[in-house]
Amino acid sequence: MQERRKLPTGVRGGGRSVNTMQKKLEIDLSECVLCDICVELCPHVFRKNDANYIELVESDSYPEEDINDIIRSCRGHCIEWIEET
Ligand code: SF4
Repeated sequence: MQERRKLPTGVRGGGRSVNTMQKKLEIDLSECVLCDICVELCPHVFRKNDANYIELVESDSYPEEDINDIIRSCRGHCIEWIEET
């Protein structure tokens, strides 16, 4: 069984979510392998914090097509849009 890293408090494995109009973007840090693809390809949305975890840059809106490309490239399969109900 894979050992889980200790994560900062927050939603879903310490990930942080940000709301858009109809859905929110979420990172599940318990699955993140810290490959940095998201930060390299979309630094205006993703960054590494002082604890060396990926987090979302605060914004009122995010470029959906760019983020969808990152979701497909994410090696940890840990970035997703969550539909708001
Ligand atoms: S692309 Fe996915 S696995 Fe890689 S650092 Fe970003 S969130 Fe983590």
